[in-house]
Amino acid sequence: MKYIPTIGLEVHCQVKTNSKMFCACPTSFGDEPNTNTCPTCLGLPGALPVLNQNAIEKTLLAGLMLGCGSPAISKWDRKNYFYPDMPKNYQTTQMDFPLCLDGGVPLYDHNYPKDYQKNIANPGKVVRLNRIHLEEDVAKSTHLANNSLIDFNRAGTPLMEIVSEPDLASAEETFAYIKTLQQILIYGDISDADMEKGQLRCDVNISIRKHEEDPLGERIELKNLNSISAVRRAIHYEIARQSADLDKGIGQEQSTWRWDDDLGESQMMRSKEDAHDYRYFPCPDLLPIQTEPLLEVVRPRVPELPHEKVDRFTRDYKLTPYDASVLTAERPLSDYFETVATHTQAPPKKAANWVINNLLAILKENHTEITASPIKAETTAKVLSLVEAGTISNNQAKDLFVALWDQPNTDPAALAQEMGFEPADNSAIDALIDEAIANNPKQVAEIQGGNEKLINFLTGQVMKASKGKANPKLVTDAIRGKLL
Ligand SMILES: [Zn+2]
Repeated sequence: MKYIPTIGLEVHCQVKTNSKMFCACPTSFGDEPNTNTCPTCLGLPGALPVLNQNAIEKTLLAGLMLGCGSPAISKWDRKNYFYPDMPKNYQTTQMDFPLCLDGGVPLYDHNYPKDYQKNIANPGKVVRLNRIHLEEDVAKSTHLANNSLIDFNRAGTPLMEIVSEPDLASAEETFAYIKTLQQILIYGDISDADMEKGQLRCDVNISIRKHEEDPLGERIELKNLNSISAVRRAIHYEIARQSADLDKGIGQEQSTWRWDDDLGESQMMRSKEDAHDYRYFPCPDLLPIQTEPLLEVVRPRVPELPHEKVDRFTRDYKLTPYDASVLTAERPLSDYFETVATHTQAPPKKAANWVINNLLAILKENHTEITASPIKAETTAKVLSLVEAGTISNNQAKDLFVALWDQPNTDPAALAQEMGFEPADNSAIDALIDEAIANNPKQVAEIQGGNEKLINFLTGQVMKASKGKANPKLVTDAIRGKLL
């Protein structure tokens, strides 16, 4: 690349609470427009705000999960501007003493775009955070050809703003940053962070320069990005656009642009305001917050983070880092796996394979979330134990699993018997083993000469002859017993 891009993100994320930030109106999504409102969130004169403690605690929890500190006293400020989505003409937010300061977001390998994962430029990178502050969301406006509609249901929803340092160097790192942030916020039950529902929205600041030692270029702020793939496209476009300008000797002017994903281009909206244009001043209606007593309440709620879980799964269950990252993508999935692994006789690696290959497939086929899986983890554990004991074959276990989906309360062993999955007849299998040995003298000689890998070849012959009914582990053991 001819120029060095510098990217920083402001992520707005709705905090998952039942009621709004400064009033008791519900935060539910998709209701009739303008039904979840009151004088406070409509911004009527004289209405007074009341703080939502749950929103404050969840923001502090996000800070603890991301390694942030908190000032002893955090306070509220008014950000003044005139816009129809904020009729009281100021937004209640936090300027100089936000709830959380510093911290960082680790970029997880599995959260990079799939086509980029083999070539990650800075593995293990941590993007520094500047701050996380809490504010109120504004109303939602919809612009039609001749008029505009406005819905105040969203107005006053608690909104965290997570501000990064300009540490990101590419569209792909930005992609991984948003995905990792989403994963961590969902882990902490802080937000559902669903971009399609507008629960997570981001503004991207981007500039380019020629050399590392040059000062940062004037930054362009891209607004209106509503999917992660759109963020990636927009950054690629913007780097190319600014590079073409710079090639011609044209610099950028600090300004705010919008991204049109249908046209695949960014368009200038306005030259950028600076913070002093907003005339911030302390909110006279809200008392500052002492953070330490709240942090004491929140600290025990910090969950094991995804990367900590990956480390533990690879260490304690001897899983590959890839399997561990698949299983820890969501907390309910990792909980399911751990219940299977601790309740079955099968080794954890087999439990992991079964959950990743068989369970996730059947859930996807039936459009079912893991939390709603009819087959409980304990049942899956029993199925795997039956395979491990040699009672049923792996193929029979797959059929049994599909049958259990429709009758999840049946005992797996009883259902296996009902389906005619008798334990394989040992004398018949033994005869097949003798047959395989007699038919393959060359391989037998090699095995006895020390090439033990060839035992797998004989096992394969027996499996084929038994039409998959034999237990491969028992067959291998028997061949070994006969030959060595
Ligand atoms: Zn309200």
